[in-house]
Amino acid sequence: MLIDSYDRVVDYLRISVTERCNFRCQYCMPEKPFSWVPKENLLTFEELFEFIKVTVDEGVNKIRITGGEPLLREDLDKFIKMIYDYKPSIDLAMTTNAFLLKGTAQRLKDAGLKRINVSIDTLLPKVAQDIAGKDVLQNVLEGVDEALRVGLKVKVNMVPMKNMNFDEIIDVLEYSKKRGMSIRFIEYMENSFAKADIKGVKSPELLAKLAEHYKFSDDGFDGSSPSHYYTMDDGYRFGIIEPYEDDFCKKCNRIRLTAEGNLIPCLYFDEAMSIAKSIKAGDIKGATEVLKEVVRTKPEKNRWGGEDGESSNRAFYETGG
Ligand code: SAM
Repeated sequence: MLIDSYDRVVDYLRISVTERCNFRCQYCMPEKPFSWVPKENLLTFEELFEFIKVTVDEGVNKIRITGGEPLLREDLDKFIKMIYDYKPSIDLAMTTNAFLLKGTAQRLKDAGLKRINVSIDTLLPKVAQDIAGKDVLQNVLEGVDEALRVGLKVKVNMVPMKNMNFDEIIDVLEYSKKRGMSIRFIEYMENSFAKADIKGVKSPELLAKLAEHYKFSDDGFDGSSPSHYYTMDDGYRFGIIEPYEDDFCKKCNRIRLTAEGNLIPCLYFDEAMSIAKSIKAGDIKGATEVLKEVVRTKPEKNRWGGEDGESSNRAFYETGG
């Protein structure tokens, strides 16, 4: 079992299989192309899988594939199948913008993928274009329908922003609810790659707006999920992810692996250790040592909202959010 210095059990690995993305979401990525990690520096799926086996053998039981946009990486279904075949009971999930899901959902499900989280920040084509930098909404919505049709469990993520999509939180909640998908509103996290003038919406304001439309009770936190949950009178549950609150880190059970092989103990901080060299050399003992050191040095808290300012230099498209 992997236990960090604050007695948190680390059993959740998030893998960003590519930093590349087909969207340029204003809150995540700069608009202009920048220097991508060259393809030859990425770990192959076989190499990533070698490290996954190490983490699973040490107690990881939940794996999320993310990015960038994970569906941009070819043969993702084969990678998913490798993980599934190694341990079918792993809670195997993916976070995606859904743009390419229409043609891939069935294959991913057949390979062993259980759940997906889909980013839906708006239901208005023009706003989707503004946020993502291109006309994406129709493909996204068709992708979601296809995922539901093939039997994947789907959750919706929405990042509410002032003067952008805050006025749509009820519409996106209703869209999700109608389709049996729970929704989590993610507070915008300041980071140096986002557009400078973005203004996020914090949970008190979100809750006030939701309370104008619904009655709900506060369920608090559930296991190690970072989400603060609320249940509406009719039983529908929604969540708010509040990285600015202390509780966000108290039960953090996750570490993150980038496509290059950097193992990151916290979403906020720059610190990371590479497993690439040991994995490429077939040095499993070395990779296990790096894993244990990263878990040991996992910080107690992020610094969003802390004394040192509220921005992170970590790119979400690199860590997978
Ligand atoms: N491309 C995929 C997607 O769109 O879901 C996966 C990668 S994306 C980086 C993962 C998650 O991070 C998304 O739900 C996105 O909304 C969230 N995210 C990215 N930048 C964020 C920010 N600055 N604040 C809050 N959430 C952010």
